[in-house]
Amino acid sequence: MTSTLTGRDRIANFGAGPGALPEPVLREAQRDLWNIGGSGIGILEHSHRGKLFERVLGDAEQEIRRLAGVTDEYHVLFIQGGASLQFAMVPMNLLPAGRTADYLVTGVWSQKALKEARLLGTTHVAATGEADAFTRIPAPEAIRYSGQPAYVHLTTNNTIYGTQWAALPPVPDGVPLVADASSDIFSRPLELPKYGVIYAGAQKNLGPSGITLVLARRDLVEGGAQQLPSMLQYRTYARERSLYNTPPTFAIYVVGLVAKWIQAQGGLAAMAARNEAKARLLYDFLDQSAFFRGSVEPASRSRMNVCFRSPSEAQDAEFIAAAADRGLNGLKGHRSAGGMRASLYNAVTLEQVGALVDFMREWEAASPSS
Ligand code: PMP
Repeated sequence: MTSTLTGRDRIANFGAGPGALPEPVLREAQRDLWNIGGSGIGILEHSHRGKLFERVLGDAEQEIRRLAGVTDEYHVLFIQGGASLQFAMVPMNLLPAGRTADYLVTGVWSQKALKEARLLGTTHVAATGEADAFTRIPAPEAIRYSGQPAYVHLTTNNTIYGTQWAALPPVPDGVPLVADASSDIFSRPLELPKYGVIYAGAQKNLGPSGITLVLARRDLVEGGAQQLPSMLQYRTYARERSLYNTPPTFAIYVVGLVAKWIQAQGGLAAMAARNEAKARLLYDFLDQSAFFRGSVEPASRSRMNVCFRSPSEAQDAEFIAAAADRGLNGLKGHRSAGGMRASLYNAVTLEQVGALVDFMREWEAASPSS
């Protein structure tokens, strides 16, 4: 099938993750798969202990530091196991016996993070959007912290429901904020000093699946629990520069290329402006449509995952299939939320969002109930 967008052999990918990657990154990776840096060996085949990969790893770290203004106060760690392993590593490393960790629960991913923490220590739910079916981010006034928690955990963007913290909530003085930023990392400038730890599975805005980026404050890493298996301790990754064992070398390499690509687009502020324009185009259409409607409270809307519905589930399914025929792919909502979801990650272009909106307008005009 060819795309209505370009007539080329690629279609528009609105999938929630693994998601779209920037075309120049894919082209460069394609070349380097065969022979990287004139070494006569492809990136997949180089030893993780060799000079070439050491440079690749160093470059990836430096690109990330430059892009997000990550100071020496923070470690840049590459860890396997997905964001899901971080749900457990965070409390293992940062929640000592006798302390409480506070969780802001805004969807399935925060519930899963909380579930792991409960297995490992004492937790407190400081706010939850469950009563509103996670269609809104809790108001700061609704948050009740436990006192002086070991950390406060939140999910910056809720991939499934399409909500996002527009601004970070206040946390008690001196308490580190720990964030799962899997679905909006590097989509906007990062207020790094506000965080103790940020983690993100790479497969949405950063690169392929298989690697999780963890930005962790040095004092938290050094002061973390030590009676843990090596692979579950942040200290191991910090000490060994993420080379304690064989890391997913290709995934790290692509993350480095993506960070460089974002920088070349003008950095995080430029990325935020682009993402804002993409999201506005789609939300503005939804707001005037008589057929489609957005699924969440406007003030809580995500710039990354736009969730919407038509009048019925049957019509949702028809629309999703017809859109796929037009080369507009990946629009089915998550199975726990239903409806449609367009993920507008960094690599999705304004042109592609425009094509989606044009098709929605056409579909609405042709639908009997409009
Ligand atoms: N957190 C969020 C916000 C996510 O969107 C996802 C995956 N969609 C996860 C965590 C789980 O990530 P992983 O599959 O890398 O464990």
